[in-house]
Amino acid sequence: MEGNYDLVIVGGGMVGAAVALSLADTELKIALLERSLPEAFSADQPMDLRVSALSPASIDLLNQLGAWQTLLSWRTCPYQRMRVWELDEDAEGVAGQAARNLATEFSAQDIAIPELGYIVENRLVQRALLDQLSGVGNVTLITDGVERIDYSAASTIIELDSGKSLMTPLVVAADGGQSMVRDAAALGAHQWDYEQLAMVINVETVLPQQDITWQQFHPSGPRALLPLPGSNASLVWYDAPDRIQQLMAMDFEQLKATIEANFPKRLGGIQSIQTRASFPLRRLHAQRYIDEGVALLGDAAHQINPLAGQGVNLGFQDVAAFSDVIHDALVQGESISSVDVLKRYEQRRRKGNLLMMQAMDLFYRLFSNQRKPLKLARNLLLGLAAVAKPARIKALRIASGIDRF
Ligand SMILES: Cc1cc2nc3c(=O)[nH]c(=O)nc-3n(C[C@H](O)[C@H](O)[C@H](O)COP(=O)(O)OP(=O)(O)OC[C@H]3O[C@@H](n4cnc5c(N)ncnc54)[C@H](O)[C@@H]3O)c2cc1C
Repeated sequence: MEGNYDLVIVGGGMVGAAVALSLADTELKIALLERSLPEAFSADQPMDLRVSALSPASIDLLNQLGAWQTLLSWRTCPYQRMRVWELDEDAEGVAGQAARNLATEFSAQDIAIPELGYIVENRLVQRALLDQLSGVGNVTLITDGVERIDYSAASTIIELDSGKSLMTPLVVAADGGQSMVRDAAALGAHQWDYEQLAMVINVETVLPQQDITWQQFHPSGPRALLPLPGSNASLVWYDAPDRIQQLMAMDFEQLKATIEANFPKRLGGIQSIQTRASFPLRRLHAQRYIDEGVALLGDAAHQINPLAGQGVNLGFQDVAAFSDVIHDALVQGESISSVDVLKRYEQRRRKGNLLMMQAMDLFYRLFSNQRKPLKLARNLLLGLAAVAKPARIKALRIASGIDRF
């Protein structure tokens, strides 16, 4: 046996690194396991494909953890507005006018905050958190993969790719949607794949549009823009797998012309395409987040349709709740690996995560569909959102992490 720890976090992605840092002020002896470390930041690097829209609540957490100032000094893109509409907005004449009236625009001003959020590259968030950990005495970052987990309520043994083993009374899963920890502890999951893939394309646009993120609903899936620094943007094209395969097979010239012909007019022209990749869309919810000696956080507990960019924002809310529960238990002298303590974390997070996932499912089903009654229902919804200010403000406060469901 190579090491005994009070707590072992499997996965040093954005969520795992944040949870380690959130417990850096305790006396706990912690190991953070990550199989591949992100490259250090350099300003001349091209922008990564994997980016996230971070809510004000996530930014508060990163600020408390000391990583936000670093990110601001690297590369971020704040946005103040978010616009959502249906395909018909681009139509000409009376039909177009009616649809334009149904477009809903949310603004930071509506809830008196300076920004609705920031778009940041996932690697940079992870890197800033890991850099912040480097001066922390009670957390050991181990760069190694997990080969096997022998879960037991009293003490779990984690075997690493290098042949070393760790032993701990509390294992925290932050190892993403395919969580090995979740399987080892038999916590179970309800999961399915949506009938769409998401293609992410980093482009440079002719028009500057850095203060807004927008999403156009289309019967075959949404088309979205997330602004990136400079005149760059991350486009997301959701569509059926065979259509995405076709798009992935195109050279950049063909793809550029296809985007210009199929994205809403407000995108304008594309100067150049830097990179693209496609991602499967999975919906996953763990049947239980905890058991004696184990807790799931972030994508290990829930994977959500990314159409409203809530995945890691929910993960950061898990981190804040878990950290509170552990700190309180330490003050009370309770065992942090006990079901009684860990249950408090599950109780604080499960319902809100589930409601957000259900809301995304509802949007997905309502908007990725050409059936007439559903079209009526969504026009009603967009129309309501356009005129009913209190409802719009409530939705915005929930999306920003200011209010909970
Ligand atoms: C197309 C797309 C767009 C998205 N956009 C947004 C957005 O705008 N906003 C948002 O909030 N969310 C977004 N998300 C979701 C977001 O990316 C995820 O919720 C987030 O990455 C989850 O973070 P995590 O740390 O829980 O898991 P992960 O990012 O999956 O990290 C898990 C970590 O664990 C490590 N690991 C796994 N297994 C092992 C092992 N056996 N041994 C050692 N290490 C291991 C991995 O190397 C990795 O670093 C999007 C997702 C997709 C697919």
